[in-house]
Amino acid sequence: FIRFQGVSKRFGSFKVLKDIHLTIQSGERIIVFGPSGSGKSTLIRCVNGLEDYQDGVITVGGVPVSRALGTVPQIRRKVGMVFQHFNLFPHMTALENCMVGPVARSVTEKEARNRALEFLSRVRMTDHAAKYPNELSGGQQQRVAIARALCLQPQVMLFDEPTSALDPEMVGEVLNVMNELADTGITMICVTHEMSFARRIADRMIFMEGGKILYDEPPEVIFSRRGEGRLVEFFEHVA
Ligand code: ATP
Ligand code: MG
Repeated sequence: FIRFQGVSKRFGSFKVLKDIHLTIQSGERIIVFGPSGSGKSTLIRCVNGLEDYQDGVITVGGVPVSRALGTVPQIRRKVGMVFQHFNLFPHMTALENCMVGPVARSVTEKEARNRALEFLSRVRMTDHAAKYPNELSGGQQQRVAIARALCLQPQVMLFDEPTSALDPEMVGEVLNVMNELADTGITMICVTHEMSFARRIADRMIFMEGGKILYDEPPEVIFSRRGEGRLVEFFEHVA
């Protein structure tokens, strides 16, 4: 469903992605991990056109992701994204944050509200629907951000370290929601260093370093090789 064919990206003369080949089937759950600066965020940001790339081609559902061809708006209708920092609109309630996207895509107010309430309920935020972001904890804000993305009914969800800005006691509640989401069969690509979570949900774990994919294996294989050179540091704190 998502395919990278020989994709490279440069920032100036610095190569961030080097000849990436990657195929992700519909419904697959992919975990991306690796050292800081290895290109993880850039890789997933290329999928929905937040970053441009120079060589090769990325397709989503057969459509090339290309600013030049003007396909980015079309791609973003299929691909939702949740960031490290929740990026909710501060002047809107949780409910309004969830409604604004669908309404902008000419969903009726009533339908947008129903959808928002449904997804807020899924992330267990019904009781907080009328609150503003500054009245919510980080974990609650992140759950609203997930509901907001789901209200646009994407076929793919991208997560970029969704729990790394959270206080430790809030990580679990967000991972639980993501766990349930994984069970719905949606295609997921998630950058995270939460290894127990990765083991539970991942079909494949991709390890990046220096703009390249070094490993692309099921979690059993990655975990069995956890003592190997570059993988060691990511498993230090995992039981
Ligand atoms: P982290 O774990 O710290 O989030 P990452 O694996 O997500 O790292 P990226 O954010 O994809 O890494 O960045 C990869 C490299 O590209 C880094 O060396 C970074 O400095 C560089 N880079 C990222 N964005 C830009 C930019 N807009 N301009 C120039 N260089 C950039
Ligand atoms: Mg990153």
